Amino acid sequence: MQQGKLFVISGPSGAGKGTICRELIETGDFALSVSMTTRAPRSGETEGVSYFFVTEDEFVRCIEEGGFLEHAQIYGNRYGTPKAPVLRELEAGRDVILEIEMDGASQVKKNWPQAVLIFILPPSLKVLKERLRGRGTETEEQIELRSSRCLKEIRLISGYDYYVINDELDAAVSDVLSIVRSEHLRTEGCEELIRKYEEE
Ligand code: 5GP
Repeated sequence: MQQGKLFVISGPSGAGKGTICRELIETGDFALSVSMTTRAPRSGETEGVSYFFVTEDEFVRCIEEGGFLEHAQIYGNRYGTPKAPVLRELEAGRDVILEIEMDGASQVKKNWPQAVLIFILPPSLKVLKERLRGRGTETEEQIELRSSRCLKEIRLISGYDYYVINDELDAAVSDVLSIVRSEHLRTEGCEELIRKYEEE
């Protein structure tokens, strides 16, 4: 059986990567990796679905045991992708999606070069700021800070394999699905395809 492919959805915060991933999971064609985090659960979040919520000690133990594909610290909390379930899904021929921040994405590329990195962009910094204002969770100063951080992150885009501009959600999801389809039509590892013709 052909191995599944690992797709990493990353990019600046506020670009809508979480929403895109939710739509992708709804297609039923992907396994979503559940991350481990030391941050406290928010209301409505479920253990083992949103995250595996662990203590700092448990997280460090998992690092020491080599249990993460990647891990990072964000705003004082730790986040990591447990390696075993991802490898299990790939072995079973399922495509896996990781929705992680950019530091983690570059670690994945280092540890698993076959991974496909997709950078999700907001249509403009102006729209990003409008979206953040719409959430109403940040001050104007924090919004400006996020916008300038976003620009710095966009400059790192060449480390990614593809980009998708999240202007209209359906179009962005469709772009990601096109990337997935293209990756499945690559000629690398096509021994099985050749064999199929040889056996005719
Ligand atoms: P939140 O705390 O809002 O759920 O997530 C904060 C950030 O952590 C988001 O940008 C999300 O993409 C990122 N994140 C979630 N899980 C992981 C993970 O396993 N590894 C890394 N590197 N980032 C993660």
